[in-house]
Formats: sequence, C-alpha cells, structure tokens
Amino acid sequence: MKFKLSKLPYDMNALEPYISKRTLEFHHQIYHQTYIPNLNNLVSKTTFKNLDLVTIIKVADGPVFDNASQLWNHIFYFQGLIPENNNSGEDPFEEVIKNNFGTVKFFKKCFKKAAESLFGAGWIWLVLNTKGSIDIVQKSNAGNPLRTGLIPLLACDMWEHAYYLDYQNRRSDYIEAFWKLINWDMVMKRYNAAIEERFTTINTDRNRKL
Ligand code: MN
Repeated sequence: MKFKLSKLPYDMNALEPYISKRTLEFHHQIYHQTYIPNLNNLVSKTTFKNLDLVTIIKVADGPVFDNASQLWNHIFYFQGLIPENNNSGEDPFEEVIKNNFGTVKFFKKCFKKAAESLFGAGWIWLVLNTKGSIDIVQKSNAGNPLRTGLIPLLACDMWEHAYYLDYQNRRSDYIEAFWKLINWDMVMKRYNAAIEERFTTINTDRNRKL
C-alpha cells in the first residue's frame, strides 16, 4: 500500500457545532478510505506507482487522476480547518485579502458566490496565480488547480457528502459554517511558501548579480 490514510489534526467532534462529528467521521473514514484503496489498486500495475501524489495529479487522467486528486484535496481541506476555539480569524491573512479584494467582506461575498453557483459537485479554491495575486476558482468533480499552474491556499469541499447531513442543500449555511473553521494561520503559511516557491528563484538570481 503506497498511499495511506492520514490522521486528522483535530478530534472528530472538534469542529462542532459547525461540522458535526457524524459528518466528519463519515467524510474522513468512509470517503477517504474509498479513494485510497481505489488509488492503490489503480496505480499498482502502472508506472504511476513510482510517482508522488502531486506529480500524479499533474500528469494523470481518468480514474487515476480522480482518485489521486480527491485524496490530495481532502488532506488539504481537512488541514485547512481548525476548531473555533483555536481560530485567530482572518487577521493573519487580512492584509493579503485587502490588497487583492479591497475588504474581507467583499472577499467573503465572492467566495460565497463561487460556492453557491458551482454546478454539481466540486471544489472552491483559493489560489496564488502566476502573477502573484490571489484568486477564487471553481473546479468540478475532483478538479485541482495544480493542473493549471495555480498554487492552492485553501480548499472548500462542495460535494454533498461534506455538508448534506448537517445542512441538506443549504450551501449558503455550509459556507457560513466553513468560514468559522478556516485556519487562516495555515492559509498564511501556505501563501508565504507559495510566494517563495514561485518568486524566490528570480530574486536569488538578481541578488547574485548585484
Ligand atoms: Mn469530500
């Protein structure tokens, strides 16, 4: 077994009352355990078995891509959440939001609109684009922004299994709940790493010439 189930960084009931223990258990255990065995079976007889998850996501198609991406997306989604008591709110990331969207209120409105207007199942992503600014993008099914050169900063699972037990079809209520659980310290950390990954090489070359 190349790919294994990752442990959550919090208890199953830690996201209550916004995401119930029942939803989290169902979501993490059942669904996660679907993508991992599927992926392990699919890659076992192919050259993909020697590649890491991100490379598979960038180059694979069909069921291999679907299962690899869903696995990565879920790890990223769960790591982007934090129990309300430990949450420092938008503060760590506020300056970046304001530089790109003007206000936190407008940014949240854009994010909500993207989530509510996504057709069918998929993901809403906050990404660093190639110009160094942040964007909100919709992806259907297992879609992952890594495929188009964008660097993910935050993922919101818009498959019904992520919210249906708690919110039925009320996506708007799910987004409000999701917002209270976003780990903005983690988003900031990812943003700093993304900026470094994307732009440091250029700076290093320039420094060398000076
Ligand atoms: Mn999911």
